[in-house]
Amino acid sequence: MVRLSWTNQAKNLISNILNNMNFRIGYGYDVHRLAEGETLWLGGVLIPHSKGTVAHSDGDVLLHALCDAMLGAAKMGDIGRHFPDTSSDYKNIDSKILLAQTNELIASKNYRVGNLDVTVAAQQPKLKLFIPEMEETIARILGIDIDAVSIKATTTEELGFEGREEGISVHAVVLIVYTDIVDKIHKGLDDSEEGRINTVEEAKEKITT
Ligand SMILES: [Zn+2]
Repeated sequence: MVRLSWTNQAKNLISNILNNMNFRIGYGYDVHRLAEGETLWLGGVLIPHSKGTVAHSDGDVLLHALCDAMLGAAKMGDIGRHFPDTSSDYKNIDSKILLAQTNELIASKNYRVGNLDVTVAAQQPKLKLFIPEMEETIARILGIDIDAVSIKATTTEELGFEGREEGISVHAVVLIVYTDIVDKIHKGLDDSEEGRINTVEEAKEKITT
């Protein structure tokens, strides 16, 4: 029996994975109006500010854009389809719950988030100090490494509705990975582990079989 070298096994595994289209991307965009007397939740974190977002839910525009990107990647519609704002179930709901449920939805199609990248456009407040906590919160809910979660904030140079502080917009992109891929990698590595030659005796046995 001829065994492929570890390198060739790895190459075959990678080409199988790529040919099977196990990676998918998704994009999400959301906007909420800002008003005085409302709370400002962003990325699952309560931000102290004179204004907050106007919404049926807690108005976490960042988590909404992220949910839409995840659902889009899995071809599962959008957040409005799964969590309609006409339903009293979602009145003032904590959007972290929506994110956890969205993660369950994509898991039902055997996907998990590979990594995500989010940009928040807001003139005020400055978000830099809150970003690490947002990233930790999202990584924890999705059950992924914090290295896979990137959040950035920008102003719009006082241009547009964000610049006039009338609202906040968020763009999100997500890569989702078919979970079977993880099994394949482990299986592939285990197989190659078996095929590895550690001693001269093992080498002789390989040559003769
Ligand atoms: Zn929203």
